[in-house]
Amino acid sequence: MDVFDHASLAFPQSLPEFQRLFPDDAACAAYLEKARWEGNFVCPHCQAGGEPFRFDNRPGVLRCRKCCRNTGLMVGTVMERSHTPLSVWFWAAYLVASQTPGISAVQFQRQLRLSRYETAFQILHKLRAGMVRPDQDRIGGHPGTHIEVDEAWIGGRTRGEGRGVHHKTLVAVAVEVRYRQPGTAQDKRKDGRYAGRVRLAIAADRSAESLCGFVESAVTPGSLIVTDDWSGYNSLRTRGYDHHAIAECGDPEVSEDFLPISHLVICNLKTWLNGTHHGVSAKHLQAYLNEFTFRFNRRFYPFNAFRSLLGIAGVTTAPTYTELYSDEWQHTKCSGYGH
Ligand SMILES: [Zn+2]
Repeated sequence: MDVFDHASLAFPQSLPEFQRLFPDDAACAAYLEKARWEGNFVCPHCQAGGEPFRFDNRPGVLRCRKCCRNTGLMVGTVMERSHTPLSVWFWAAYLVASQTPGISAVQFQRQLRLSRYETAFQILHKLRAGMVRPDQDRIGGHPGTHIEVDEAWIGGRTRGEGRGVHHKTLVAVAVEVRYRQPGTAQDKRKDGRYAGRVRLAIAADRSAESLCGFVESAVTPGSLIVTDDWSGYNSLRTRGYDHHAIAECGDPEVSEDFLPISHLVICNLKTWLNGTHHGVSAKHLQAYLNEFTFRFNRRFYPFNAFRSLLGIAGVTTAPTYTELYSDEWQHTKCSGYGH
């Protein structure tokens, strides 16, 4: 799929544009209909074509003129069986997909003037459930690139529990490192290195079993992996990876220099967890890691993220590796996440 071929579906680039495209539930319903049938409704019950009946007071429903049966536009999407208006779902998906820090349930409730916090919380959690593709592939596996793998302790919620209570959770990170074309405007930053796709997971501990197990689940065998010299990574070679360990000698500056991209990712993750969400509990941390990963890996493609979140995406929504790194978009679309 050509990621620029958005067919007839427009995607708002700004809040005023969003307002213009989706002024009410009926506009959102029309968008869903277009996403599914591209203007040529076919009744899923009797396969008859032609314009369906529409109801002013039920924008999510189309009725076949031939067999008179209803078709729900939200069936098969995260919005199915929800009593929340379509327009609220669209706002949520737009804000989560297009805003670098996403949005907290409290902010979302306030911004949309939802009467209940639980409604906001549930919408965002339902969207999060759609953020992990069941067929999620492993990153890496491309010549000329390498993967930085590192761990970080992520602080849990400490408010009201007194000093010294931290509930820190170990998070493993793997990130593709790419190089910009020499001579471009951005190639001076970090030696032209920038982040490709990322994978984040809670790790039980720093043992070889945990860390190498994470690598095996997240990174394609044969990839070059750069880590610090922690012994937990020693067996990567015997597990089929090309491995380069940087001797840290206890100096964090060294790993800052040699693992700059994973440090950037971890720094962004911590800022986001603390800034937008004021810290999250260990219990829910993986859901937030998934959200961070989802948006990070689609940061050049908010339109795809929007469609994925609503569950109305086509067969292929995530950009392929080639698309992600093709020169056509690289210089114009790179938003410089985290800079
Ligand atoms: Zn029909």
